[in-house]
This record gives sequence, C-alpha cells and structure tokens, in this order.
Amino acid sequence: MKTKGRVIVNTGNGKGKTTAALGTAFRALGHNKKVCVVQFLKGQGKYGERVMAEKLENLDWYICGKGFVFVKENIEEDREVAREGFKLAKEKVESDLYDLVILDEITYLPLYDFLEVEHIVELIKNKPERLSIIVTGREADKKIVELADTVSVIEPLKHAYEQGIKAQKGIEF
Ligand code: ATP
Ligand code: MG
Repeated sequence: MKTKGRVIVNTGNGKGKTTAALGTAFRALGHNKKVCVVQFLKGQGKYGERVMAEKLENLDWYICGKGFVFVKENIEEDREVAREGFKLAKEKVESDLYDLVILDEITYLPLYDFLEVEHIVELIKNKPERLSIIVTGREADKKIVELADTVSVIEPLKHAYEQGIKAQKGIEF
C-alpha cells in the first residue's frame, strides 16, 4: 500500500514550533524513515539539535541563513541566501529520497518578501506522494494553511524570557 504523506504546519507566537517538528523527526527516525531538515534564516549557531543531527545517519540537515533579520541594511544579501535555501529545499523535496522534510522557519520568506508564497505552495502541491512536509514559523500564510492537513497554532501564555530569564542551552538552543 502506498502511504500518503501529510502536510503539517506549526505556527503561532508560542515556543515549540521547531521542537515539535523535531519531535516528529525523532519519531520518524525510530521507524527507520529518512528525514531532511532545511533551516531558513537561523545562521550558524551551536544549536543542540544540530550537534545531535550529525550523529544520526538517516537525518540530513541543511542551514540556509545568516541569523535573524532585524536590520534592513543587508536585506538583498538575506534575500539571496533565502532564495538559495529555497532552491535547495526544492531539490530535497523533489529528490524523493525522504519520508519527511522539515522546512524550518520557511514562513518568514514570504513574510519578509524574500519569496512569493506561490513558490512554497507549488512545492507542497507537487511533493512526492509518500513525503510528509512540516512547515514551521510565525504567521504562516493563509495559502499554506489552506493546503495543509494539520495546522497547530501555538499560543504563548507565558515565556521565561519575559521574566528576565535568558535563553538556556539545552532548552532554547
Ligand atoms: P523552539 O525552537 O524552542 O521550538 P519555536 O520554534 O517555537 O521555538 P522560534 O520563534 O523559532 O520559536 O524561536 C526562536 C528562539 O526563541 C528559540 O530559541 C525559542 O526557544 C525562543 N522562543 C520561542 N518562543 C519565544 C517567546 N514567545 N519568547 C521568547 N523566546 C521564544
Ligand atoms: Mg522555530
């Protein structure tokens, strides 16, 4: 029987979008599935999950970003990096090598006008049948939400950061 992959969106302003996606990756890996993570905008940081990813044979991990986009000065460079990242993501999706592809923080590409949302919609629509895709990031575009099978909006009620507790190794990164 052919399996039909899902399209899952983890969005909202609360903590847990990326980590929920990685929880699903963990689950898939447990069943010997092949997983690919493409991270947009995050830059090269020593995130615990990346260190762990290197040790896992069935998990491929790509970083396409230079950190958070706060200032406008290098916006053209950010756009170029994001577009290159999208090209890579497209290659990985179309390769049909994977059971699960996580497009982490991809919602910011249309949000920052780096890429038209239609490109992401087309990518999802044309994915190999068995492939599941998880999209993460705040303010997921309506068109992506419409296409998805499962959409979770994570709402922040409290976050340690607001109480002056800074980002902690092993919890936030
Ligand atoms: P996580 O990676 O912990 O699952 P996330 O993917 O939901 O978080 P992002 O916006 O991608 O959220 O997170 C960027 C960084 O900010 C992460 O280190 C995350 O833990 C942290 N973070 C997430 N939500 C909040 C919040 N409401 N306030 C402060 N920091 C947050
Ligand atoms: Mg995230």
